Amino acid sequence: MSSFLRVLLARRRRFRYSGSRVPCNLCGGESFLVVGRRDRWLNPLINVMCRQCGLIFLDPMPTDEEINRYYERHYRIHYQGAAEPTPVSILRSLRNAEERLQMLASVLKSVMRILDVGSGGGEFLATAQRQGYEVEGVEPNVGYARYAERTYGVKVHVAPFMQIDFGGRQFDLITCNHVLEHMRNPLANLRRFHQLLVPGGNLHLLVPDMAEPHKTPIGLFHFGHLHGFTHETLVMMAAKGGFAPFDDTRRNTALLFRRLAGPDPNWFRFPEHATALAAFFRRRTMWRHIASIGAYKRTAGRLRYLLGDYLTVWRSTDRTSDATKAKST
Ligand SMILES: [Zn+2]
Repeated sequence: MSSFLRVLLARRRRFRYSGSRVPCNLCGGESFLVVGRRDRWLNPLINVMCRQCGLIFLDPMPTDEEINRYYERHYRIHYQGAAEPTPVSILRSLRNAEERLQMLASVLKSVMRILDVGSGGGEFLATAQRQGYEVEGVEPNVGYARYAERTYGVKVHVAPFMQIDFGGRQFDLITCNHVLEHMRNPLANLRRFHQLLVPGGNLHLLVPDMAEPHKTPIGLFHFGHLHGFTHETLVMMAAKGGFAPFDDTRRNTALLFRRLAGPDPNWFRFPEHATALAAFFRRRTMWRHIASIGAYKRTAGRLRYLLGDYLTVWRSTDRTSDATKAKST
């Protein structure tokens, strides 16, 4: 069987778990609305939305043991089709690292120590280290963590984030790129970020936006995504964890926060959000998606982006092999 087929089948394989029903991680609510019944591969997977605050999550929620099993053996192959970074994923992560550092330029002046939670193949750590920052990473996937250490000589903790002992060290900036949605208890993680940051420290969070228009309804859900956020639920959870957004006018799910002295008692800032989000999900059916022009524009844009990356990698490997040939002749 070709490796392509093997990867395709591995991705489509359902991860079986029992889990248990949990209250909403943001508000403690126990009344939910089902917003998804299948994952992106059409395997059964129930996602619910809290009727009180709008947070989305798996129901039942897998146990810690089930999640660890998934990440240790299953995740990267299930999600990206590789146990180590591929040339295309490295290219993207490098580009993404440079963009992130540019975006953080306003706070980086007062930053020395950076912690990247979910450091993947280590491209962000390597780029920041080259610019003179002291960096540490957290990556539960052994293959990716070892790749980062071997390739870039950066320090990476290979363990679930909440189990790591940082020996009393604190950081000026924590970055958490596409990680919070993978966490069973994101609020506890935010509170841990708060402890690990110096007073006046900063936190950069990036999660997928569950209310993004034109996204395929079925593509939203995935076993790895234990929680689903919108701008509103991300801001409310960060407030409960002791953080306030820098810029209140930005309405997306890539946000820079400053550390407050403690949790914001007025964290429930968007009381109407759950009702509005429920209406959004009722409107977002597969048939409407298929009939919308925006969906095709989005797919075309993504395809162009994907093809562009493959072409760049192909051209660079082609040049390398030409150079090798030239040398050997
Ligand atoms: Zn809730």
